[in-house]
Order: sequence, then C-alpha cells, then structure tokens
Amino acid sequence: MKEYKKPLPQITPWSRPFWDGCKREQFLIQKCQDCQKVIFYPKMFCPDCLSSNLEWIKASGKGRVYSYMVVYSYQPTEFEEDLPYVVAIIDLEEGVRMMSNIIGCNPEDVHCDMNVEVIFDHITDEFSLPKFKPIIS
Ligand SMILES: [Zn+2]
Repeated sequence: MKEYKKPLPQITPWSRPFWDGCKREQFLIQKCQDCQKVIFYPKMFCPDCLSSNLEWIKASGKGRVYSYMVVYSYQPTEFEEDLPYVVAIIDLEEGVRMMSNIIGCNPEDVHCDMNVEVIFDHITDEFSLPKFKPIIS
C-alpha cells in the first residue's frame, strides 16, 4: 500500500466500531435502543434522550445527494492531487446525513437527489474511508 499523506481520522473509543466496520466494508451507524433514533456521526450518548444504550446497525449504504460542491482549486494541500473533487452531504436511507466524497463519475455529473451508494477506499492498513458512487439504474 502506498504511503498515504492526507490527514487521517481521529479515532475515539465510541467511533472505533464505525472505523473497524469500514475496514470490513460494513457501513455501521448507531441506533438508540431506548428511543429508536438513528444516529450519525458516532456519539457516546443519544442526542435526543441522552441514553447511552446505543447499538450498531448495518446501514444499507445507499442514499441521495442532499447538497454538494465541486472543488476545482485550492491553496496547496495534501488534496491537490484529487482536484477536481466533490464534497457532498448525503441523506442516508436510514434518515441521517453524512459528509463524504462522490467518486466514480465526472464531478460535473453530480446533482442533488442523485442516488448513490457507499464504496470503501482502503487508504491505509488501519483506515478505509466511506465514499459514495452513483447508482447506475
Ligand atoms: Zn434515544
């Protein structure tokens, strides 16, 4: 695996299962067992009822683009080799939003409400990043 020079996620004890799941290509999100709220990003407590009685569920990995931007130029950073790239907010089928990249298509083809599914980018031995690609129907 080639050297990865971009910033890496900071793992917390409560986000460890999420990152371990990504490594196995399982897209895990939390669900409160007391009030049934689906939760993303990983938290120690339910943001609605403050319960710590949270479970991990396997998400479908499918969602729709809520909003996005195409990054064409930026001051020199570790992400320069990726230009242009898409940063998107994705509504997951389970009812939570997450920010990620849309890959596997031309940035100009991305649009709001586009159906996407997760794909895992294995960047290091420890980390796989969940990114999204268009669902071709
Ligand atoms: Zn709750």
